[in-house]
Amino acid sequence: MPDVVVIGAGAVGAACAYYAARAGLDTLVVDRGSVAAGTTGAGEGNVLVSDKAPGPELALALLSRDLWLGLAEDGVGDGGFEYEPKGGLVVARTPHELAALTALAGAQAEQGAEHVVVPADALTDHEPHLAPGLAGGVLYPQDAQVQPALAAARLIRRGAERFGRGTLMLRTGVTVTGLLRAGERVTGVATDHGDILAGAVVNAAGTWGGEIAAMAGTPLPILPRRGFVLVTEPIREPLIRHKVYTAAYVTDVASDSEDLETSAVVEATPSGPVLVGASRERVGFDRTTSVPVLERLARQAVELFPVLAGLRAIRAYCGFRPYCPDHLPVIGQDPAVPGLHHACGHEGAGIGLAPATGHLIAQTLTGAVPDLDLRPFLPGRFQEARR
Ligand SMILES: Cc1cc2nc3c(=O)[nH]c(=O)nc-3n(C[C@H](O)[C@H](O)[C@H](O)COP(=O)(O)OP(=O)(O)OC[C@H]3O[C@@H](n4cnc5c(N)ncnc54)[C@H](O)[C@@H]3O)c2cc1C
Repeated sequence: MPDVVVIGAGAVGAACAYYAARAGLDTLVVDRGSVAAGTTGAGEGNVLVSDKAPGPELALALLSRDLWLGLAEDGVGDGGFEYEPKGGLVVARTPHELAALTALAGAQAEQGAEHVVVPADALTDHEPHLAPGLAGGVLYPQDAQVQPALAAARLIRRGAERFGRGTLMLRTGVTVTGLLRAGERVTGVATDHGDILAGAVVNAAGTWGGEIAAMAGTPLPILPRRGFVLVTEPIREPLIRHKVYTAAYVTDVASDSEDLETSAVVEATPSGPVLVGASRERVGFDRTTSVPVLERLARQAVELFPVLAGLRAIRAYCGFRPYCPDHLPVIGQDPAVPGLHHACGHEGAGIGLAPATGHLIAQTLTGAVPDLDLRPFLPGRFQEARR
């Protein structure tokens, strides 16, 4: 019988399992698919502080960024998951946008986010192929990138191999169908392969975290927010050095709109292709490819980097971000269901925020004092709102 069962082998579940095992807990991860079968295998891998509003999410992002760095340094070279501390460059089209970006960066700096304001005539020193006519930008040296599916797999493997204190095991192809209870307390999970008893259960089911919470009769209003990514043919020269995005992206991330929003987000990858995002829309779990959305993404990327016009797009994919109405993830023990811990609802930042989430969940599982104030993230906020 494991000390803890983690539902979900995405980036967040993998990080929860890694840190739980490291803290000495015997841990079992179950997933109905494979590792990274959910949104982790369908997004990009930016580890950003630059797009986080000052406050609890920025604090979580800064902690997570430090943990990613440690995980990469602990591994070989790029950590085994293509960790690239490349920095992010946010560009403004107008002086008004630049003033807003600079004000945001100033507020973020008070919490420890580093930045450099880049005047218009210095933009090409950082990104030689940027379009002319931009008003300037802000460079965030702490922004980084990982390959999300590899990162999830590596965390699970390292957790299984390294510590000898807590064990880590993985079972794929196992669907959780219910939660086992002894009175109020959760004592494990019911699955299509039989019951699994455990001391505690972690709900790391991402966009499906609300379904797991509903099995315990607890409300978590997590909804899918669809996003497409366009992938170009591999490039040989390093045309794009940073993660580069426009000021409009910051507005889109914070928006509550259900309608389609697109803003240019461009990044190269170590294997060559350039990833072009980002779209956001709330259309349920509809996977139908939308050519108009892809066309918009391509056009916006070429406006930012005209050199991309000569590249072919070779494929596109979509995923469903786990959207929470207040844009904060759900991290912590359910106040109504002892033994059930939630780690889901990270929307478009679950890769970046995974290590901090896993670390904090391991602290709550072991009764340690969490490194961050968990109150803004606690699941009880939705129960209070309903009352
Ligand atoms: C287009 C796009 C771009 C993105 N770009 C970035 C980015 O650059 N940086 C970033 O930080 N984030 C990004 N994101 C968001 C990020 O991908 C997600 O926040 C993150 O993957 C969530 O990870 P997770 O582990 O919580 O969920 P998931 O990866 O979805 O994992 C949940 C797992 O739970 C399993 N599961 C669900 N229900 C059950 C059940 N009943 N029984 C068993 N298993 C179950 C699923 O199979 C799945 O594997 C992007 C998302 C999209 C769509």
